[in-house]
Amino acid sequence: MEPAPSRDAALELRDVTVRYGDVVALEGVHLSIAPGRICGVVGMNGSGKSTLFKTVMGLVTPDSGSVAVASLAPTAARKRGLVGYVPQNEDVDGQFPVSVADVVMMGRYGRMGFSRRPRAADHAAVAEALDRVELTELADRQIGRLSGGQRKRAFVARGIAQGADILLLDEPFAGVDKRSEATISRLLRELAEDGRTIVVSTHDLRALPALCDEAVLLLRRVLAHGDPRDVLRPEQLARAFGLDVLAEEG
Ligand code: ADP
Ligand code: MG
Repeated sequence: MEPAPSRDAALELRDVTVRYGDVVALEGVHLSIAPGRICGVVGMNGSGKSTLFKTVMGLVTPDSGSVAVASLAPTAARKRGLVGYVPQNEDVDGQFPVSVADVVMMGRYGRMGFSRRPRAADHAAVAEALDRVELTELADRQIGRLSGGQRKRAFVARGIAQGADILLLDEPFAGVDKRSEATISRLLRELAEDGRTIVVSTHDLRALPALCDEAVLLLRRVLAHGDPRDVLRPEQLARAFGLDVLAEEG
């Protein structure tokens, strides 16, 4: 018997399989995350982490199974601005003529209607989000001229300004400076305390227990889901990563 759908889950995947041609990226994934939780997603490269995020965003359509985001279909949830996304690779053109504040303001577009004319409340939301990610002093800088970590923080600010209930962060700590890492970690905790649901993929296994309330170990399927300390037990990691990584972790 499959678990019954939980009515109040922020996020629920039931028996989700995603293929790219011949490649099976996700297979029979069951996952339910309660509101206000921080869930870390861990798995080797190619294990399906980014596909999981894209599926929740409705950017990738499953071959089978069902996905509910705040009890809605993914595209409906995205169009209502309920879910914010910090992609792994933002593909920002270095010359793209938008400022940091412009990027954060994009999080407000869903509320503006066709005119896309920001009102005082929109400017206030952008200023507050920039303050929370500690980018106020770089608000007018072109987005392409930020460091990797600053750019991640700008996209996190976009999600905050959007007022999304659910935030997906795909490897926000990869290649970022210590300050950005600390700022993002602190913010995720604050946002969860505000009742938002956070799903964050990371390769930093040591940081996971402090960062997350629960963890998912992914290898096309969900190998384990629960308390980070249980999920990160050596025999689980061996299954997910292979013994060579286990040796490194000591
Ligand atoms: P992760 O984020 O954990 O590295 P991905 O979700 O990016 O994993 O990839 C899962 C699998 O799907 C990998 O085998 C990858 O090569 C494949 N894949 C991802 N995106 C595409 C795509 N657009 N077309 C074909 N295969 C893809
Ligand atoms: Mg990825």
